[in-house]
Amino acid sequence: MNMELTKMIHTINGIGQTMEEKLNSLNIFTIKDLLEYYPYRYDSYELANLEQVQHGDTITIEGKVHSIPSVRYYGGKKSKLSVRILIGRILITAVFFNRAFLQKSLTLGKVVTITGKWDQHRASVTVDKIQLGSFSGSRAIEGVYSLKEGIYQKQFRKFVYEALSRYANEIEEALPLQIRETYKLYTKKEALRAIHFPKNEFDLKQARRRLVYEELLSFQLKMHAFRRFEREKGKGTKKQFPEDKLYDLVNALPFQLTSAQQNVLAEIIEDLQSPYQMNRLLQGDVGSGKTVIATIALYATVLSNFQGALMVPTEILAEQHAQSIQELLTHTNVSIALLTSSVKGKQREAILQGLEAGDIQIVIGTHSLIQDDVQFHKLGLVITDEQHRFGVNQRRVLKDKGLHPDVLFMTATPIPRTLAITAFGDMDVSMINEMPVGRKQVETYWVKSHDIERVYRFLSKEVMNKRQAYVICPLIEESDKLDVQNAIDVHSELVQQFPHFAIGLLHGRLSNEEKDKVMRAFSKNNIQILVSTTVVEVGVNVPNATVMVINDAERFGLAQLHQLRGRVGRGSSQSYCILVADPKSEDGKERMRIMTETNDGFLLSEKDLELRGPGDFFGHKQSGIPQFKLADLVHDYRALEVARNDAKDMIQSNVFWTSSEFEHLRNAVTNESFFKGKKLD
Ligand code: ADP
Ligand code: MG
Repeated sequence: MNMELTKMIHTINGIGQTMEEKLNSLNIFTIKDLLEYYPYRYDSYELANLEQVQHGDTITIEGKVHSIPSVRYYGGKKSKLSVRILIGRILITAVFFNRAFLQKSLTLGKVVTITGKWDQHRASVTVDKIQLGSFSGSRAIEGVYSLKEGIYQKQFRKFVYEALSRYANEIEEALPLQIRETYKLYTKKEALRAIHFPKNEFDLKQARRRLVYEELLSFQLKMHAFRRFEREKGKGTKKQFPEDKLYDLVNALPFQLTSAQQNVLAEIIEDLQSPYQMNRLLQGDVGSGKTVIATIALYATVLSNFQGALMVPTEILAEQHAQSIQELLTHTNVSIALLTSSVKGKQREAILQGLEAGDIQIVIGTHSLIQDDVQFHKLGLVITDEQHRFGVNQRRVLKDKGLHPDVLFMTATPIPRTLAITAFGDMDVSMINEMPVGRKQVETYWVKSHDIERVYRFLSKEVMNKRQAYVICPLIEESDKLDVQNAIDVHSELVQQFPHFAIGLLHGRLSNEEKDKVMRAFSKNNIQILVSTTVVEVGVNVPNATVMVINDAERFGLAQLHQLRGRVGRGSSQSYCILVADPKSEDGKERMRIMTETNDGFLLSEKDLELRGPGDFFGHKQSGIPQFKLADLVHDYRALEVARNDAKDMIQSNVFWTSSEFEHLRNAVTNESFFKGKKLD
């Protein structure tokens, strides 16, 4: 980078030691840091059209004083001055706090320009700034920075202004000419000037566009470069198998794969056959047929004389998967084992030996599968269901064992593409975005809580018809005690309502064994109605359950509601999801409406992202989402897609690694610390 820009900020006039320290505490050390400290919002001083402004906007308007100002004093020294101002043909009230001295200047007929917050209901402006005389409009838009006490906006603007004027010619262009021309992007110099001192809305938009693209491009370049770097280490295993044998299995399935399944399968097979280590995320809504694909991939692995493992979050799921995989592979002679913590003693010994010797070809279990004392003979593929419960640690365990199997993560939580390619930017992403034909859609209704009796009648009718139901109680975040209590209350209410049905209770305070016991009873229909907190969220399969009642549904995000809804509709009968909710906010109402309107998980996840923002998407713990300075994953997703494709092309091209045109980007990408950090997982 240019040396001038790495100069410390005290070279700027007016930045003495105290100010320097204050700026340092904002992580501003160099001229470059200062230039890249962007405003977090802008105030507009363009003259507003009163017919177009919205309640709460900060606006600037020009008009004539139309009444004698009235001043009211209160609380000792405080004052409130009100005056009527005529703007064109509209009369509004301007309110000034603690500026009673203005009274004298605001004479009838005087032209003033005021800036302040617009109150639509009162037709008034609470004035921040006033300029006697007409609008001069020297600077229409002004950046507002997030600063600390003791640094004034005006002051900070002056520092930036000076930095820009003194060092503008040192700002080096990071984007090659061809890219700038293709997308008609500002130069870096222009963009930095305009992001701090935009001439107008358009200028600002162009500045943002340019800087966002650069930010996303360099992020994506890092991701792609990292992947290539991982690949070149060449630790993967190349699988070779007789394809006709694999297609014998595919052709023997009782159904035809959907075209989405076929595409995804082709991608996975290509990964398996390549010498690189697969690192792929497979997304698909509940019931879209991921398990089938996983099974075929495991079979391909076995045909190549490797072992495969499938890891799932719970024991019940492990059992269910083991069973369905066993069924799918009945006509092959693959040896399959189930290894969970309830497999003990001799049986466990035998499985461990089988895995070590390579006699067992596919093993299904929980996370303990790849840890502890489990040794594999030749592990070639690890598949995990519900990817976000399997992370960095498990991958490290595998590496520590000297294993570099292909890894496939499956998730039914539809992750919006924007998030998938950022949060999981170092992975390939496959999607099954199509349901098998003839699947019945779950009918979804939204009911207010005062109509709960109707819900109970419906429940009763379904149970009389030999169906089963879930009743979900919301998680009460502040207190898991309340949470459990809530479920217990709902349970006893239902026990009273339905004395003839067996009603189960499931919540987070139960031990794993107790939970398992309840779930087993439910899956055998020894329990007809299961009251539960969201612990059932994880994919259990009880095809006979046809009703999902979700209490206080407005407390859940769309992704979670959809996930819960996916617990029903797994059999051949019509299923129902009933949202019991009295949402107060517009967002809440909107969410309920969307749920009743669509069964499309990806659409829902996009909406969720829009309504709640990316931070909320994965809940509190899960983040891994990079913090961008300017880019915003909700609004800049198009730019992200473009940047991703460009990055991919660049990384693949020799030109990127050799041409001086790319020097800046290359430096950003090959930055040591990035790779060091990444190597840890
Ligand atoms: P997921 O793991 O994505 O929830 P599964 O693989 O368990 O979905 O599939 C759900 C059900 O749909 C299973 O009973 C499976 O046999 C069936 N299935 C999968 N793919 C198809 C298909 N292409 N056509 C018809 N049924 C399918
Ligand atoms: Mg599944």
